[in-house]
Amino acid sequence: MNNKVRIYDLARKLKLSNKDLISKLQDLGVTVKSHSSSIDSETAELVESLINESKGTKSADVKKSTPAGEIITEPEIKNEPENNNKPAEKIETKQNKSQPENNDKSGKLKSRPPIITVMGHVDHGKTTLLDHIRHSNVTAHEAGGITQHIGAYVVMHDGKPIVFLDTPGHEAFTAMRARGADATDIAILVVAADDGVMPQTREAIDHIKAAGVPMVVAINKIDKQGANPQKIRQQLSELGIYTEGWGGDVGAVEISAKSGLGVPDLLERVLLEAEMQELKADPKANPEGVVIEARLDKGKGAVATVIVKNGTLRNGDIVLFSSTYGRIRALFDWSGKQVKEAAPSTPVEILGLDEVPNPGEKFRVVKTEREARNEILEIKTLERDSSNTAKKATFEDLYSNLAEGELPHLNLVVKCDVQGSLEALCASLEKLATNEVGVSIVHKGVGRIAESDVMLASTSNAVIIGFNVRPDGNAKRTAELDGVQIRLYNVIYDVIDEVKSAMSGLLKPVLREETLGEVEVRQIFKIPKIGRIAGSHVTRGLVKRTAKVRVIRDGIVIWDGHIASLRHEKDEARELKAGMDCGISLEGYQDFEPGDILEVYEVTEEKRTL
Ligand code: GDP
Ligand code: MG
Repeated sequence: MNNKVRIYDLARKLKLSNKDLISKLQDLGVTVKSHSSSIDSETAELVESLINESKGTKSADVKKSTPAGEIITEPEIKNEPENNNKPAEKIETKQNKSQPENNDKSGKLKSRPPIITVMGHVDHGKTTLLDHIRHSNVTAHEAGGITQHIGAYVVMHDGKPIVFLDTPGHEAFTAMRARGADATDIAILVVAADDGVMPQTREAIDHIKAAGVPMVVAINKIDKQGANPQKIRQQLSELGIYTEGWGGDVGAVEISAKSGLGVPDLLERVLLEAEMQELKADPKANPEGVVIEARLDKGKGAVATVIVKNGTLRNGDIVLFSSTYGRIRALFDWSGKQVKEAAPSTPVEILGLDEVPNPGEKFRVVKTEREARNEILEIKTLERDSSNTAKKATFEDLYSNLAEGELPHLNLVVKCDVQGSLEALCASLEKLATNEVGVSIVHKGVGRIAESDVMLASTSNAVIIGFNVRPDGNAKRTAELDGVQIRLYNVIYDVIDEVKSAMSGLLKPVLREETLGEVEVRQIFKIPKIGRIAGSHVTRGLVKRTAKVRVIRDGIVIWDGHIASLRHEKDEARELKAGMDCGISLEGYQDFEPGDILEVYEVTEEKRTL
């Protein structure tokens, strides 16, 4: 009955912010230090029932029925933060959900350009298609200004803009897809007509379906010999993708990305699809959007390319991501030109963030930096795994922090200078996990070690690993205050090595058994008050007072345990060698008989390494 409940677990359960819960507890006369503190389960139950009651009952009734009524009547019992900053946003795959079409009561919604992702099997012509579209559909001036890092661009077709998401690297692309390809309105599935549906084509289809995004098929390389567009349509139909003319309404356009043949038709079809989707947004709404890619720039700091999904993003806006926030210092459009604002569907690069956000992460604009800071702490706290010991982790003493029977577990917060090393490092670290010692990366990010990382590490009993990055002043102070360990490295192998040895420290030592000798029971003595003593002879090796023995009769082990006493003649002995006689009594066993063999052995603990 004496169970403890963590504040943040309870807050999550009650859909309250930690802060709100703590203040409500305060009103109840329960003082807790922080969201990682615990209260007993009875108090938790009381609070829970009071708060649940308030959801179903009129506050006046509650006031009457409980002295703590005022905590319930507060109007700000907050629900979960809106869907655009939930850490678990990848669950939400239907991207239409994030679109505001359904609540256009006041007619504020305006059409917005479609955002396109090109997917398909390797070598089927994705890059060629994107290049062709970029080169033939943007002005020379703009093309010259394309910065290397922007992962999206806008082209015009028939006077209408179309936004293309480039896929700057497999990692970022995978990360985006893992988050439901959330930025994408329409996917172009490229299938080479001379090759057909391949494994990554299937994979792409699965991701497109999972994201609930409509697709247009580009049947590519029709200029090539052996190209068989009909075969592609058939193969697609076998996968449940029914193209136009093949019993379905999925657009399929035959093209040659190389020569450009059919590409205008493809764009035409994409615009038609966009029209059918009625893609709309409210330029005056509170701005929100999604990260396409992000990096740490030596001069500019954290730089993110984002796509605005709703509202108009402006210089000076305070943007809140699920991992970081910042006040926008500058916006650049896809061609590298500085702009003051970005309307719905516009890709822009933004400067001024605290930390590099993750591709696929959503953001929204908040009013104050304070609000952003508080929300970040909340989100990071919720992100962490539950069920950890309260003490802070260090590489050295994790083992001693373990509760009995608990699997040793190393929690890490990993910060890197670039996305590439981050992914590589985290993958290697996660691979270190064995079924005896777990490794959890509670949070990973590109950018310096910020105070929020330390807070997260603190609440999740994690060690912070910094690779080519350093903590800022606030982070250092908080880490010292909270006793959070920060480890800094410049070489990946060093990280792996140290984490490995830390994990080795978590390993249960191996028990190694060594046989010391053999003793034969020859005669039984009965000693009053003490009991039966085995009058024995050491036939092999030696016997130690501290050793263990197995009693063996007719080749069968009938008892296993510790020696209680060892005597030679009348004296206590520590150790007796082969050829000597002795009297032995065992801890809790007296039924030995003449002829029994006592196998003497010792167990040593040995530290293990991974
Ligand atoms: P990705 O891996 O999907 O990005 O494929 P790429 O765009 O790199 O194309 C792979 C190869 O196919 C390159 O050598 C291209 O030149 C070639 N290719 C792409 N599209 C076409 C096309 O329409 N016709 C022909 N003949 N070759 C193409
Ligand atoms: Mg490519």
